[in-house]
Amino acid sequence: MNPASPPSPACALHYEQALQLLAQSGREAPGGEPGSAAWLQGLIDALVELSSRDALTGLANRRAFELALAREVDRVARSGEPALLLALDLDHFKRVNDSWGHAAGDEVLETVAAALVECVRPMDLVARIGGEEFAIILPNCGVAFGHTVAERLRRRIETTPVAIAPRQTLGVTISIGGAFAPQWVRSTPELWLERADQQLYRAKTLGRNLVQIEPAAAPIVSADEKQLLFESSQFLDHE
Ligand code: GH3
Ligand code: MG
Ligand code: MG
Repeated sequence: MNPASPPSPACALHYEQALQLLAQSGREAPGGEPGSAAWLQGLIDALVELSSRDALTGLANRRAFELALAREVDRVARSGEPALLLALDLDHFKRVNDSWGHAAGDEVLETVAAALVECVRPMDLVARIGGEEFAIILPNCGVAFGHTVAERLRRRIETTPVAIAPRQTLGVTISIGGAFAPQWVRSTPELWLERADQQLYRAKTLGRNLVQIEPAAAPIVSADEKQLLFESSQFLDHE
């Protein structure tokens, strides 16, 4: 289609729906002449942005998180820089819904999301990957800092009251599991997340409101990851 030509009636209908979606999410319509190349690009960019966000918290959603995690796996394998993945889960969140209602639960999720974002660097990706489950990708995070960062997050949630009614606040806690990407080894996003989840599970079973980071002194490489290392052609590229 010539970008400058006016949209056909069928296209116009779809544009209308796309614009409605943007408006419903509080986003502005793209600038420029409707149907122009700049306007279309603006519309596409806004829709891509919308499709990568969690509607309740505004964080990256699961889909965006999985794409970012795959990119980070590649980057670590190429650069050898350390990277940390944190898996976070609110403690006894069902009780919040049961005692205070679903709207209060949503308020907790929004407050926790904002607090998590405030505790990390702009380059870190905070995502909501499930109902009350979050994940954070921290590129270039040294092994010595992993526990400190996670502990700062845990403490921040513990000390952040959530306003659920005019004069009613609520305290919540979060359990955190972490795993470093195996440096110089091509892992997979799934294996990395599985390792962080295992640590999260440990934090839950050890009592909740805890941080558990997989020890990274000796590189911990699972059997599946070793298999990937020897199958990978990354070390043959430069021969
Ligand atoms: P644990 O400490 O073991 O994680 O216990 P939990 O109660 O946090 O975990 P469980 O999996 O039993 O319950 C999670 C609850 O999260 C149940 C579900 O109703 C609630 N939930 C999931 N998504 C949302 C949401 O978008 N809004 C609200 N308000 N609640 C949600
Ligand atoms: Mg959960
Ligand atoms: Mg939970």
